Amino acid sequence: RAKGEGRGTFRYFEDAMNDRLVARKKVELALRHAIARNELQLHYQPQIDMKTNSVKGVEALIRWYRGEDGIVQPNDFIQLAEETGLIIPIGEWVIREACRQAGDWPELTFAVNVSPVQFRHGNLVETVRSALAEAGVEPHRLEIEITENVLLSHTDETIETLRALQAMGVRIAMDDFGTGYSSLSYLRRFPFDKIKIDRSFTSDLGTCFDADSIVAAVINLGAAMGMVSNAEGVETLEQAELLRAQGCNEVQGFLYSRPVPSASIAQLLADWKSKAAEMQPVAPETVVQ
Ligand code: C2E
Ligand code: MG
Ligand code: MG
Ligand code: MG
Repeated sequence: RAKGEGRGTFRYFEDAMNDRLVARKKVELALRHAIARNELQLHYQPQIDMKTNSVKGVEALIRWYRGEDGIVQPNDFIQLAEETGLIIPIGEWVIREACRQAGDWPELTFAVNVSPVQFRHGNLVETVRSALAEAGVEPHRLEIEITENVLLSHTDETIETLRALQAMGVRIAMDDFGTGYSSLSYLRRFPFDKIKIDRSFTSDLGTCFDADSIVAAVINLGAAMGMVSNAEGVETLEQAELLRAQGCNEVQGFLYSRPVPSASIAQLLADWKSKAAEMQPVAPETVVQ
């Protein structure tokens, strides 16, 4: 009887694994056709300049409108896209689409996330150059966001690619700083224009002394090296005020706006003045020290 049970259990796992493989294959196949079927869309989240309290740019964030299955978020398909190589055509589409749409809001900068896989295997520099040229967009408006994973190997090629992009006028931001295997020495070795402090640090601000000191240190270090600081995932006025007090240059987060479809950007900019007035700094005595 025990033997039979064991076999049953094994059979169960085998089936479960098989189901997972089949499901994965199905998603891969659907994703393969997503571009041609116009199912990919970019949403944009505003980035706010702390000094002027104005929207200075947007970050493009991909969404997959998968028919009846609704909107699929990047965390649910980017990894699969990387593992299957689909991230190369998808990433190219993102760059071209963002450059094309950037023509609609000429006063803003725009940031695009680039996967480590695309950074290495795609013809990134040429893709960026031609996308900018075809859209007639000035390179200094574009910012490429990479994560620390990009820096783990192929150091010389990585620096070469970063420098080629910067020589064009494109700026480079280090995304999710503090979550990967980064060491502070990366900041010296690689020529970033901006450091984006990960949301996990932002959300602990005011509640945890460590987070406050880490964030302050990163902002100061960045400033000392001529890098702009951006804090991601700002959800409360208290976080915003702590960041302002620490000299953070730029913020983004649900406090200001969730990522919105491109068609909503004009309205968002038009509404910004009244929104900004609501977000006047809180009285100093209410700021958590
Ligand atoms: P990321 O580049 O670090 O983007 C920030 C993520 O945090 C976005 O999630 C954004 O919607 C979310 N977020 C922004 N403000 C807040 C906030 O105040 N609170 C909370 N809880 N979340 C906030 P999203 O759009 O789901 O993207 C997740 C990740 O997927 C991105 O992280 C990025 O690594 C990747 N990704 C998104 N679009 C692309 C793309 O076009 N290409 C590539 N390669 N990766 C992308
Ligand atoms: Mg990003
Ligand atoms: Mg990030
Ligand atoms: Mg991220």
